[in-house]
Amino acid sequence: MTQLAVVAVGGNSLIKDEKRKSVQDQYDAACASMHHIADLIQAGWNVVVTHGNGPQVGFILRRSELSRHELHEVPLDSCGADTQGAIGYMFQKALHNEFKTRGLSNQAVTVVTQVLVDQNDPAFQKPSKPIGSFMSEADARVKIEKEHWAMVEDAGRGWRRVVASPKPQAIVERDAIEHLIKHNFTVIAVGGGGIPVVRNERGDLIGTEAVIDKDYASALLANSIRADVFVISTAVEKVAINYNKPDQQWLDRLTLADAKRYQAEGHFHKGSMGPKIEACISFLERGGQSAVISNPENLGRALKGETGTWLVP
Ligand code: ADP
Ligand code: MG
Repeated sequence: MTQLAVVAVGGNSLIKDEKRKSVQDQYDAACASMHHIADLIQAGWNVVVTHGNGPQVGFILRRSELSRHELHEVPLDSCGADTQGAIGYMFQKALHNEFKTRGLSNQAVTVVTQVLVDQNDPAFQKPSKPIGSFMSEADARVKIEKEHWAMVEDAGRGWRRVVASPKPQAIVERDAIEHLIKHNFTVIAVGGGGIPVVRNERGDLIGTEAVIDKDYASALLANSIRADVFVISTAVEKVAINYNKPDQQWLDRLTLADAKRYQAEGHFHKGSMGPKIEACISFLERGGQSAVISNPENLGRALKGETGTWLVP
């Protein structure tokens, strides 16, 4: 039976460096990443691709801000939907071309994905995730007063809006994604961690001004569709303990207990590797069998068990 992998691709799959951020640059980067995804599909895997959207949402917010004298502003949930569509389009086009070159009849399709969060998630009491551009204290005061934004001063670089980052509870379009996989489509889903929605007292979905961590949402999707492997593709081939220190040690295999212990000991940075390890831990705790962290170039070898850092129960 065909094995299913959920592959969460990191920011480096779209923006390689600060000077190359245009749509064309992002597409070039997407082509390089999707080449490696196509390798997995050619090797016989069913693949669901998920991705981040932090910089892309930042660009939309900045445009929205600059044109507010003429056009309506774009709310955060719409920014999420916009980036899912645009990034999904880049991946679909890149995958289409890869499949054609390889003589494969596969098709890729993007699912605009809503992810349910809990209105009572404690994260809503302490917004922590910075989004959008930096501004002066005076401008920040206006935002706080007029739009009730939560703002923080960021290490002398200016003021920035922060929003809540609640934990994902359920993938709203789960059944649609599962059907597409069953029919051999390569699905792109939960872009940017999904569009966060809450349910009101009538049971209706309401978009919310929050962001969900893409690694957590991807892990939840992987459990929800019973993926055989949850893969995190980022900028490093393996995870290390004592990272960037003289006694740095690359890891091949981590049990759930090891992962928790190293996490508690502070081996994984809060804003980068920390959430990835936590996402893998949550995947295993909900019954997932194996997760692997590696970089795009090594995904094929990683899924053959030749490299990457593997996390197991
Ligand atoms: P992504 O855009 O893929 O989400 P991040 O930059 O958020 O990537 O996280 C990946 C980065 O985490 C790696 O490029 C690496 O520099 C850093 N990192 C932090 N701690 C570790 C660790 N213990 N082992 C390996 N990499 C680590
Ligand atoms: Mg990250």
